[in-house]
Amino acid sequence: MPVMETEVLIIGAGVLGAATARELSRYKVDVTLVEKNVDVGWGITKANVGVVCQGRDTLEFRPEYHRTRLLWRALPLMEPLCRELDVPFKKVGAYLMIRDMTKKEKLDKLARRTESLGLGSDTYYPYPELKEREPHISPEIKGGLYDHAIAVVHPVYLTQALVENAVANGVRLMLETEVEDIEAGHTEFRVRTNRGEIKARYVINAAGEWVDRIAAMVNADDFVLFPIKGYVGVLDRNCSELAGSLLAVLPEEPGDMNIVVPTVEGNLLFGIQLQINRRHDRSTTALMARRAIENARKIIPEISEKDVINSFCGYLMFRNFEIGWHECEVAMSARVPRFINMTIGYPGVSASPGAALEVLDILRKDGLALEPNPKFNPYRKDIPDFSMLSEKERKALIRKDPRYGHVVCRCETVTEGEIVEAIRRGATTLDGVKFRVRPGTGRCQGGFCGPRVARILARELGIPETEVTKAGGASQQVPLRTKQLLEEGGGDG
Ligand SMILES: Cc1cc2nc3c(=O)[nH]c(=O)nc-3n(C[C@H](O)[C@H](O)[C@H](O)COP(=O)(O)OP(=O)(O)OC[C@H]3O[C@@H](n4cnc5c(N)ncnc54)[C@H](O)[C@@H]3O)c2cc1C
Repeated sequence: MPVMETEVLIIGAGVLGAATARELSRYKVDVTLVEKNVDVGWGITKANVGVVCQGRDTLEFRPEYHRTRLLWRALPLMEPLCRELDVPFKKVGAYLMIRDMTKKEKLDKLARRTESLGLGSDTYYPYPELKEREPHISPEIKGGLYDHAIAVVHPVYLTQALVENAVANGVRLMLETEVEDIEAGHTEFRVRTNRGEIKARYVINAAGEWVDRIAAMVNADDFVLFPIKGYVGVLDRNCSELAGSLLAVLPEEPGDMNIVVPTVEGNLLFGIQLQINRRHDRSTTALMARRAIENARKIIPEISEKDVINSFCGYLMFRNFEIGWHECEVAMSARVPRFINMTIGYPGVSASPGAALEVLDILRKDGLALEPNPKFNPYRKDIPDFSMLSEKERKALIRKDPRYGHVVCRCETVTEGEIVEAIRRGATTLDGVKFRVRPGTGRCQGGFCGPRVARILARELGIPETEVTKAGGASQQVPLRTKQLLEEGGGDG
């Protein structure tokens, strides 16, 4: 296989790798982004609750932490970034609540610290006032501190938009490209992938759950990560009235993250049940599910398991467990020049624009010439969301392209036009379409629309339906046609 050469190689198209690629695309640098999955944003970034926060909701949060500095740098950037990339960004605000008045002192301390750091002033609401603002909260809640700055984004949409824009500005994206080994030379790295060798002057290791393993390939693992599995439940949209803001209970036990969060689409998420676990095991367990729903009911008693339409687990890669919270690693390895490790356990989505700028600072300091790319265009337009359009806008869209008049997913009102556009922008699988335009995210979870989406994918990609996969690899949904199954001996049962 031919050897490819690039100036900067980014490993991992999660939110951190994507934000860095997009930031680098402002300059005349040859950048390659490799991702082992068939699509972008499918690592830890896929499994989270999408809150954009300063992380100031715990007393372990300290201004001297690196993570804090990245967050502060990032937060003013997030809303304008979402505007440029046409990514939904919703300011929802958050109540950090207590169920026991002895914890009030902690809330006061948090409020004083927020103010002394110049981060604004949060208002405390006792239960009766809180109940007026959030009518469904439990009477056991005693009060809560309101942080108006909290917002939500969809982390996968953000990652897709960052990558789309980076590619439009010249970044080379290589999907299904897995880094298997790296050799560090004096002037370059030789990176072995399943698609051949890549020579790179700089390597940015943004491999999420596997950052330490990739770093270990060149002996640049001068940090330790602890994988913590987090469970999140998804409630049907008919529950959207139950909470208008992020509702969180001040941690009552270590590792407790008891929250209910509105998403940009209008569903509520709840969790997060944390558990030290073997990495890569993303199974959801009955115990985690039960605990998460019990905790959610302590916030909103009306939440019922009957309304749970999905659940998932992701990994928080904690670094520096001793401090009770976790630090991040966004730095050039002290042992290996030109090798930059990037990992933020929580909240990496919020910190991503700041982390990307930090990587650019590191590269600049190391001598990489960052001359502006005169063709850089910061804007990207999202796929039209038919369900959100007015009647007039819908008619205009259907006039332009009749496929927008054909609803494929009834739960989420997703049209054929949106699905075709998602495929045009890079979706090659059922999940690729689902994570761009949402068929399969409603109550039926793809039971009705799944086969229709598969048919459209097959048609647009020019492949047989039996080759359409859920998420790449061997995840075919239709192994054989029924007739073939009967002919090949499947008729007895
Ligand atoms: C339950 C939960 C809730 C969370 N809630 C929030 C929140 O509300 N707000 C917030 O800001 N953060 C939140 N986070 C944290 C946030 O999700 C992460 O910090 C962030 O997504 C990490 O992004 P990343 O780019 O580092 O990793 P990833 O998204 O995992 O990206 C790494 C990529 O590298 C690829 N890769 C790995 N190995 C290789 C290889 N050998 N070759 C090629 N590619 C490779 C992977 O496939 C992956 O796509 C939450 C996390 C969890 C688990």
